[in-house]
Order: sequence, then structure tokens, then C-alpha cells
Amino acid sequence: MAAQWQIELADAVSDPAELLRLLELDDALLSAARAAAGDFPLRVPRSFVARMRKRDPADPLLRQVLPLGAELEAQPGFSDDAVGDLASRAAPGVLHKYHGRALLITTGACAVNCRYCFRRHFPYADENARSDHWQSALRYISADSSIGEVILSGGDPLSLNDRILAELVASLQQIPHLHTLRIHSRQPIVLPARVDTELLEWLSRCRLRKVMVVHANHARELNAEVAEAFAKLQGAGATLFNQSVLLKGVNDSAEALAELSRQLFAAGAIPYYLNLLDRVRGTAHFEVPEARARDLMRSLRAQLPGYLVPRLVREIPGAPCKTPLTEI
Ligand SMILES: *Cc1c(COP(=O)(O)O)cnc(C)c1O
Ligand code: SF4
Repeated sequence: MAAQWQIELADAVSDPAELLRLLELDDALLSAARAAAGDFPLRVPRSFVARMRKRDPADPLLRQVLPLGAELEAQPGFSDDAVGDLASRAAPGVLHKYHGRALLITTGACAVNCRYCFRRHFPYADENARSDHWQSALRYISADSSIGEVILSGGDPLSLNDRILAELVASLQQIPHLHTLRIHSRQPIVLPARVDTELLEWLSRCRLRKVMVVHANHARELNAEVAEAFAKLQGAGATLFNQSVLLKGVNDSAEALAELSRQLFAAGAIPYYLNLLDRVRGTAHFEVPEARARDLMRSLRAQLPGYLVPRLVREIPGAPCKTPLTEI
């Protein structure tokens, strides 16, 4: 029998006309939305749509998911693999960029398709650690004792079912030099029903230290169901962080960012990274200039306790870590 989250996932909105209808928006947006969805499909769970304001084409949640004509305009400097993912490929579906941490591409599927996604052109069909039942990935990690932490990424790793995830985690925890399991997922935000008994069972059982990095960009993404999902994850032993992307028209104001930090903490997650947009084809209309980003950070520091100020970072291909931007 399908779990509740699988039913919700299968029922996600994927037709631009339906999204416009649900939000009582003008049909004039439709032809561009259809064209852009042809390049990267629309996909958004209904529980997330329910958090959007009706009749507001500028709603910050809607902007993250509505395909726009601007995505199809060629923009110099925006490419398919802006962050050098493929150059750091260590084994099929394994990215080993940074000391001590290996990242597994577990699936290309997500509950939501974020228009600004840095992996929107990623060749998931060729680069997926699951294609050989994780054998090459497990072999690679086992052979390198400098790797202490495995990051499950994607796509969204929680798109995989709990049987598959439980098996993978059981294999990982047999590798003696691993101490931490990290999961990068947007699902506790966009599909809080995903955090169910089956998920909590394998997570609680896992002997590794557990870190979950969720991904919310705006305070209105957080509601009571999300806070409840966070509390359950913490109950299963996970430490929760959040990463965001700085997005024009979504969260590019000091008020929006400060409110996001406050609401994250109220729900139980610590702000971790605020990423500058990766320059991926089709996302140029989301870009916030670096000077503006530094101004926003200065303003955040002036109004929040230090522990609620995320680190502003940019991903530079070949760098040994995410590169912090100082506020000077
Ligand atoms: C971002 C990223 C990580 C994690 O970096 P942290 O600074 O530890 O959060 C690890 N591997 C890859 C390939 C990444 O892109
Ligand atoms: S959930 Fe993450 S990986 Fe999936 S589309 Fe959104 S940003 Fe990209």
C-alpha cells in the first residue's frame, strides 16, 4: 500500500493551467509557463500550493515554482554545470569535492521542481549512485578512510522509499570510518507528510550521527506541519540546519531574511548557508548582485543574534569549500 506521502507526491500539481486556476491567476501567464515547463517541468505538492496567496503573481512561494518565459532567454555566463559537479565525480553518482565529505546523487526526483535549481540540467540518468545498487559508491567510500561523512543528496534523497533508504543506511553504517550521515532534503518543508513512522524508524535505528539540512527560502514556507516534522526528526536524533538560496523577488530583503531565520529557529532549525545563485542556464532572473547580498548581510547582523545569521557563500568550481563572502 502506498504511504500518505506517496499519494501526495503522485498528486502534485504538474499542469501550469491547473496551478493558475488554483491560485486564481491570469491565463496570460499560461503560454510562457507551458513553454518553460517543456524545458524543466512544473511540479509542486498541493500542501505547498496551499501556503501561497491567491491572485498574487509575485507571491514568494509561487515564484520559486512557476515556469516563466525568462528561463528560455539565453544569458551569457549561465551554463549547464555552473558548479563543476561533473569534474568532482569520484565514482558513478559520487561527488567528492571537499575533505572528509562525500556526496551521493541518490535520485534525480524531487517533490518540487525549483526553477532556480542548480542541478536542473544535471545528467541524472548517467550519474546516479543507485544504478548498480550502490556498489561502486560503497566501494569508493570504504576505500577512503578520510571520508567521515556521507551526504545523501540528489534530487531529493527522500523521494526514494524507506525500504531503499533503510538498506542504504544499513550498508553505510557498516563502514568503520564513517561517523556522520547527512541528508539534504527539501521534503520536510514542501511535503511534511514525508516525515512518517517508516522514515523515523530507520533514522532512529541508524548508529551514525545524524544531520539533516533542509531547504526553505521564505518564512511563509514554514507552518505547523513543518514544525511538527522538524520535531519528529529531532526526536529521531537528527540535528537540523537550513540552507537557502538568495533569490530576487523571493527573499532579497533584510526583512524577509530576518523573518526566515526567526521562524526557522522557532520551528527548530538553525540557519546554515545562504547561497548566492549558481549561474545555471534559465535562472538569471533570480540573480541578486553580490554587492546587494553583502548589504543584506550587514543589515541581518544588525538585527539578529549571531546564531541566526546564515553564512553567505558562493560555490566556486575547484575551491576546497563553499566560499564565504565577507561583508566588507
Ligand atoms: C556543498 C557540498 C558539500 C557540503 O559542504 P559543507 O560545507 O560541508 O556543507 C559536500 N560535497 C559537495 C559535492 C557539495 O557540493
Ligand atoms: S528540491 Fe533541491 S534538488 Fe530538487 S529542484 Fe528544488 S533545489 Fe533542486
